[in-house]
Amino acid sequence: KKLGIALVGLGSYSTYQLAPSLQETAHCYLAGIVTGTKSKEAIWQEKYNIPKKNVYNYDNFDTIADNDSIDIIYVVLPNSMHADFCIRAAKAGKHVICEKPMAISVAECDAIINACNENNVKLAVGYRMQSDPYTNEVKKYVREKTFGDVKFVSSDAGYISKGNPDQWRLDKSLSGGGALMNMGVYSIQTSIYGTGQNPIAVSAQEFSTRPEYFKDTDETITAQFKFANGAVAHMMTSHNSNGNRLKCHCSKGWFELDPAHSYGPISGTTSNGDILKFPHKKQQALQMDDFAKHILMGTKNVAPGEMGKRDMIIVEAIYKSIDEGGKEQLLSLGNMGIVS
Ligand code: NAD
Repeated sequence: KKLGIALVGLGSYSTYQLAPSLQETAHCYLAGIVTGTKSKEAIWQEKYNIPKKNVYNYDNFDTIADNDSIDIIYVVLPNSMHADFCIRAAKAGKHVICEKPMAISVAECDAIINACNENNVKLAVGYRMQSDPYTNEVKKYVREKTFGDVKFVSSDAGYISKGNPDQWRLDKSLSGGGALMNMGVYSIQTSIYGTGQNPIAVSAQEFSTRPEYFKDTDETITAQFKFANGAVAHMMTSHNSNGNRLKCHCSKGWFELDPAHSYGPISGTTSNGDILKFPHKKQQALQMDDFAKHILMGTKNVAPGEMGKRDMIIVEAIYKSIDEGGKEQLLSLGNMGIVS
């Protein structure tokens, strides 16, 4: 059986990444759409052979509960809308994929997790890198200490934002924050899988050079993490600088992904002179198939809601550190969300 996925929000990520990826999946397929733009309905129906009964708008969305062709609802809306639609999807009895960042607060992440538990549906965050083979090779190096103990991880994630200053990513009420909410979650993730542990403390700094453009969202943030085994990580995330790299310095060498989290192919090298090479498959296809297999066959959920919540706890601690002039924030994450 292939599970039917309905995409909620037909913006650029759904249009150019998720829908094409769903043409390559083995365990799920594009069954339905939920859109607030009437003109997109016929275009998508024709392009992807979607029957009228599987087309919804934001108003009649909740009636999707009665549609047996839809097994999974994938929420691909601006960040502040994730919680509302994920909770409604769970109440409709559908499994949920929530795009990153999972929500705009830890409280919202809890509300999504609780709604999924109460309605007995599965939940994943759209962390495509968790299904990427280069990422998983790096996790193996860390786990097996191929290059010894990880001592220092450096990571960056950013791009130069230009154009429409009114775009939702630059509007805090819709995005929840700037670079940190958008690209920063990649650096948080790489810092964690680069060390194989959750951090125990974080300090952070914010830099602003174009306040007229970044009116109420962060432009550039750096943060430093401490880990229980003595490892240290430094991350940079920005809407004013490019960045797409993970480098792990270990007691007996190093390994690096550069680029580390773009749509691929990812590129990896090591101090042994190895060049990582895996067959290229769309990360989003791997990601959605991983979740479908989790539902159908009980395989591991590689990006559970708890992982998205853990990252939001770190996001909130970073913003708090900045508010307090860079003061170190202690984190008590234990092992939550560690699934590598
Ligand atoms: P987008 O702006 O291209 O699309 C947003 C969609 O939401 C549009 O269809 C728009 O019509 C709809 N929408 C509904 N209400 C809206 C409102 N009030 N304001 C603006 N748009 C509204 O954005 P996108 O790049 O597709 O991003 C959507 C989500 O996907 C975000 O959470 C983003 O972080 C995530 N995303 C993830 C990745 C990834 O690699 N995992 C990549 C891109 C985007």
